[in-house]
Amino acid sequence: MADDPNGSIKKAHAKTNLYFWPCDGDVTQASRWQESNCTLARLLANHRRVLGKAISVAVEIRRGIDDLVPSMAALCHRTCRFCPEPCCISNTVWFDLRDLLLFHLLKDPIPVGQAVSEPGVPCPFLSHNGCRLPPRIRPWMCFQYICPTQRAVLKKRGRPMETALLGMIKKIDKTRIRMEAEVIRRIKRRIRTSPSSSPASSG
Ligand code: SF4
Ligand code: SF4
Repeated sequence: MADDPNGSIKKAHAKTNLYFWPCDGDVTQASRWQESNCTLARLLANHRRVLGKAISVAVEIRRGIDDLVPSMAALCHRTCRFCPEPCCISNTVWFDLRDLLLFHLLKDPIPVGQAVSEPGVPCPFLSHNGCRLPPRIRPWMCFQYICPTQRAVLKKRGRPMETALLGMIKKIDKTRIRMEAEVIRRIKRRIRTSPSSSPASSG
């Protein structure tokens, strides 16, 4: 994980040991978001014993993202500085459940609020210097999105490069689905087989 740029990661919830990555922007509904994340953290902590495989899949995703970051950064360096309509303003992005599962399983800091904004309103994590979030805790959709300008650049660079980059994205995408399915399957199974959920022990 990259260093905290402000040196001020705060401990937001002692019981869950959850840290929220700070942000000076206008992050709406942050307290509700943080409460929801604490609930998710408690749920995963209660079932962590059966989530070993899901954690391994999360590590696989993390490696994939780490490998992807330099290529995406190079592409953005080439295209984004002169962009007349930056996607961090024109698109609506958000953290989805798979993003959150990844951060929680790997015990990453959690972004201080949801990224969502109205179309045409800048993402709350956008600053004059670009994204305030370290790449590892950005919404996956920010990586997944290759805009038309970037596609054109990739095409110019030749099919092997385009295929390699799109292949990496597709692979991570599939692995995210696998991670989510694994978490849900394990937790469901554990709840079904837990003694407290059997009819004999109820009432
Ligand atoms: S990814 Fe494309 S649309 Fe987004 S800021 Fe860069 S050049 Fe603009
Ligand atoms: S999280 Fe960062 S990269 Fe994604 S839309 Fe917001 S500012 Fe842009």
